[in-house]
Amino acid sequence: MNKNAKLPETEEGTALFNVDPIIVKSHYEIDYLHSYAQDSPFFAGLAQKKLLGSHCPACERTYATPRSHCMDCGGATDWVELPRNGRVHTFTTCHFGGEAFLKETPFTLILVEFDGVDTLFLSRLIGAEPHEVAIGMPVRARFLRNSKFKPTDVYFVPE
Ligand SMILES: [Zn+2]
Repeated sequence: MNKNAKLPETEEGTALFNVDPIIVKSHYEIDYLHSYAQDSPFFAGLAQKKLLGSHCPACERTYATPRSHCMDCGGATDWVELPRNGRVHTFTTCHFGGEAFLKETPFTLILVEFDGVDTLFLSRLIGAEPHEVAIGMPVRARFLRNSKFKPTDVYFVPE
């Protein structure tokens, strides 16, 4: 038995950002391997600067946010290219966000409506100050030049 046993001390410190409450910096990293499965064509489309939706051949409904099966009849859907131009259905200004978007606050999220499409598409609107955004405002899809294969590869700008 050793009553004087102690853990070894290390030289690396902890970054302290605040004292009341104590806020420290800790590094956290993980490689997250996941599949887009049947939604893969949507992300491949974004990389090709195409916004893809789903169309039900049975009931002729078109979904802006893709789904493999129709919400009405349950039948399998086909992929269709959506228009690049739409209108702001509604919008919100985000003054807080997830870690990836925190440095971009405030930013505007919009639900886009397209002619001939039965559901809305959630995306970012850039190029307009929050007080300039209005319901019905024409918008156009733009795509990141270097696709990240993420939903944020597409965003909208005022038309
Ligand atoms: Zn259907």
